[in-house]
Amino acid sequence: MTTTRFAPSPTGHIHIGNLRTALMNYLIARKAGGQFILRIDDTDPERSKEEYVDGIKRDLEWLGLHWDRVERQSERLDRYHAAADRLREMGRFYEAFETPTELDLKRKKQLNMGRPPVYDRAALALSEAERDSLRAERGAGVWRFKLDQQRIDWSDGILGEISIDAASVSDPVLIRGDGQVLYTLASVVDDTEMGITHVVRGSDHVTNTATQIQIIEALGGTVPAFAHHSLLTGPQGEALSKRLGTLSLKDLRAQGVVPMALLSLMARLGSSDPVELRTDMGALIEGFDLERFGSAPTKFDAEDLFPLTARYLAGLPLQAVADSIADAGVPDAQAAAFWSVTRENITTLGDLAGWWRLMSEGAEPQIDPDDADFVAEAMALLPEGPFDDSTWGAWTADVKQATGRKGRGLFMPLRKALTGQAQGPDMAALMPLLQVVRARG
Ligand code: GLU
Repeated sequence: MTTTRFAPSPTGHIHIGNLRTALMNYLIARKAGGQFILRIDDTDPERSKEEYVDGIKRDLEWLGLHWDRVERQSERLDRYHAAADRLREMGRFYEAFETPTELDLKRKKQLNMGRPPVYDRAALALSEAERDSLRAERGAGVWRFKLDQQRIDWSDGILGEISIDAASVSDPVLIRGDGQVLYTLASVVDDTEMGITHVVRGSDHVTNTATQIQIIEALGGTVPAFAHHSLLTGPQGEALSKRLGTLSLKDLRAQGVVPMALLSLMARLGSSDPVELRTDMGALIEGFDLERFGSAPTKFDAEDLFPLTARYLAGLPLQAVADSIADAGVPDAQAAAFWSVTRENITTLGDLAGWWRLMSEGAEPQIDPDDADFVAEAMALLPEGPFDDSTWGAWTADVKQATGRKGRGLFMPLRKALTGQAQGPDMAALMPLLQVVRARG
């Protein structure tokens, strides 16, 4: 069965980059009628925080990316140690004692000589006695996986045919000196034992994939299908990494972006299919195709989320927004009329309150000096409220007759006087909702 996972480390909030990973894995599983696992990669006890686990779940729930099961790496440490023992027995695992400073020095020397900075495997040459004395002196070493120095090939779901020379990659450290199991090993054990069939992740993981393929093979597991999506950049192609903090889902949600806008954009951005607003998850799943994605960096502009949000909201029925309308202060009796007037004129639900304020308190009139006399004359003709559906038509007919103005020259100054803006709802529909007209003077 198609099984995918989203495997965040709970060291921060989900941002737009992780969302892409989560969404692609989710869509692959759902499209195939398979399983989607939320795996919490919490083997690092210092950096992992429960509040982030909760935050990740809240964000995924908000998005509607429901998981079938949660797994936590911190509860599976015995499995990772068992796998480590097997690698040790196979002679594919060795202890190394270099300090970070020594490794750094080695790297610098290699770079100076124009060589790739690959770990030189000096630890492999240590005798038992040398290891004992290093251990006595420095404490337990790190455990490295001994790569087979041949090419590692896979057919990547996005990048195409990939071939990496294992000799150009350092033997990865899988267990730290303090015994902490590192992601590379934990992930491989989980992917194998949980029957993960497809792994989609960022292209920063390509080298990891190469080493993980060898570890999976060493442990006798089945190598999943891998795909690496391109990195997201800002609208100008600039690196997004530093701004990702401000592109957390939490912040986008606070700005009023709706899940379907976010999902619709991210399910297509970077693919050859156009971005289309989808209003339900089924359509999003149906229209997703990993093969359409390309390897070029993907430009992301958070501003694109707002027109999509506006279009999504405009299509919602009253009951879907009733709470927000009530929160904006609109009495129930006027909710339906209010929504039909505002639905096409908001970007986010946060704009509702402004419209209600305009209707209930009156807008600061905008009157061009040239129109001042005209507006004053028109206001004198405006009937007392309450207004109804016919007020606008009847009033503007009277004003036309009295002043001789017509068309835009007639309507625009009146719109600006009543709403303080040059654009907005259909005036005939707006009039019955206006409680206060400040332009009356
Ligand atoms: N915890 C890893 C990360 O967040 C998971 C990578 C993977 O999908 O294997 O980068």
